[in-house]
Amino acid sequence: MKTRISFIIISLSLFIMSCKEKEQLPITDLHIHLKGDFSIDDAVKKSQAENIKYGIAFNCGLKFPVHQDSQIDSVILTMKDYPQFLLGMQAEGREWVNMFSKESMQKFDYVFTDAMTFTDEKGRRNRIWMKNETWIDNEEEFMNYLVRTIVKIMNEEPINIYVNPTFLPEQMAGRYDIFWTNERMYKVIQAAKMNNIAIEINNRYRIPSSEFIKRARNAGVKFTVGTNNLDSNFSGAEYAREMIKECSLTEEDFYKPFNKRQNG
Ligand SMILES: [Zn+2]
Repeated sequence: MKTRISFIIISLSLFIMSCKEKEQLPITDLHIHLKGDFSIDDAVKKSQAENIKYGIAFNCGLKFPVHQDSQIDSVILTMKDYPQFLLGMQAEGREWVNMFSKESMQKFDYVFTDAMTFTDEKGRRNRIWMKNETWIDNEEEFMNYLVRTIVKIMNEEPINIYVNPTFLPEQMAGRYDIFWTNERMYKVIQAAKMNNIAIEINNRYRIPSSEFIKRARNAGVKFTVGTNNLDSNFSGAEYAREMIKECSLTEEDFYKPFNKRQNG
């Protein structure tokens, strides 16, 4: 009887320990912007207070303040007193590939992009987070074109992470599961796997869906956590934590960029 009880106690404490371990999966949010009222000092404080490491991302591309190689060194220099943060290049539009050299890209710890800006078959530049810059003649055709665009980006652009993944324009977002069919998910997941591109779990938009994440995990795709904040009004990587639990993700399921400034 005594042995039985101690066996139960040991198993119980092992169980509690493994639950604790799961809870404590360290989070690095690689999609933090110093935007709006959110300053570098705020980032230092918030990162410590919430025990979440940050990667600070700089938007680089056509019509953005950072749009040529010669600016990159000064961007990196602004972060010289903050080696605890990883530095990310957020590549904008589709033109960025021809605007920045490989050397510039390599000055950052990682490079990412999304598929929210593209030119459609009729030559219209879409920026699909804004209703008045999104062109939808037919929703199914729009989806097919979007999926082709995502796959093309993954095949052609030298990125480490696909962010704001599976984002849909406002007028379609409420029907996410209808538009993100198995076949469309499969195409995106395969392209990510083939090109060794991680997929962001985005806290602000709460995407991709748990169904998408489970399929991607089963295919061996890695993930990152990202918020894409507009200002200081964000916290806790809530959606990512929910998905880590629901999809049983472990540390090995995450892509971890190397901090070039901290580790040489
Ligand atoms: Zn961003």
